[in-house]
Amino acid sequence: MSENCLFCKIVRGEIPSTRVAESETMLAFRDVNPQAPVHVLVIPKKHVASLAVADDASMLSDLLSFAASVARSEEIEKPGYRVVANTGPDGGQTVDHLHLHVLGGRHMTWPPG
Ligand code: AMP
Repeated sequence: MSENCLFCKIVRGEIPSTRVAESETMLAFRDVNPQAPVHVLVIPKKHVASLAVADDASMLSDLLSFAASVARSEEIEKPGYRVVANTGPDGGQTVDHLHLHVLGGRHMTWPPG
């Protein structure tokens, strides 16, 4: 846990969020500024700053599986969806706690902005 990390505060319940799924190690909640009809953030409860410093392959596997299970429960599995991990300044990361964006409910374009 990191004292001042926004997403650690969400894990601890100090900042409100709309939780959609939770396990012992993972949490999924709705993005406060949704970019698609479905926009869920999936995070490890343990503080990891970004994908660039994530060195636990088992945790990363669980995180990706959890994201896929959220897509299933949000009913975007069949039409399709996008999973994004913004990493570092050029990647557009604004919260320094590893998170996957699960986006769906509309057609995604490519390339991303
Ligand atoms: P990123 O820019 O990839 O680091 O993603 C951070 C995401 O966190 C953005 O999409 C924000 O809209 C979202 N966000 C910021 N604060 C909150 C919050 N309190 N609850 C839910 N989502 C948040």
